Amino acid sequence: MHHTMIIFGARTKVLTNRSQSAVGDCDYCGTAQSLFAYRQIKYFHIFWIPIFPYSAQIIMICNHCKKLSYQSEIKPQTLQSLSSRTIRKTPIGYFTGLMLIGLLVAAIVIAGI
Ligand SMILES: [Zn+2]
Repeated sequence: MHHTMIIFGARTKVLTNRSQSAVGDCDYCGTAQSLFAYRQIKYFHIFWIPIFPYSAQIIMICNHCKKLSYQSEIKPQTLQSLSSRTIRKTPIGYFTGLMLIGLLVAAIVIAGI
């Protein structure tokens, strides 16, 4: 889905991982080592500039049956076993708008002094 006319809004993005390794077996279709975990973020944007992410959660997708599980549906022990090396962190670029606002405020403060 792509809306070129929307200049401000919220978007959902599933971050791709640097390394792909399965995190477990799928409970739904029974396929072994078919579950992959990702970080899904939701962020506000103005034009093409991300302002800040307002939501981040781990999701798991089965490569075989495409079943998607949200963080609230994932067992706590499974979440704990997920390596932070496997799941990509939210890139700093998604805070661009917040940093620009911070710089602007800093510039105003400095100019005021
Ligand atoms: Zn499955």
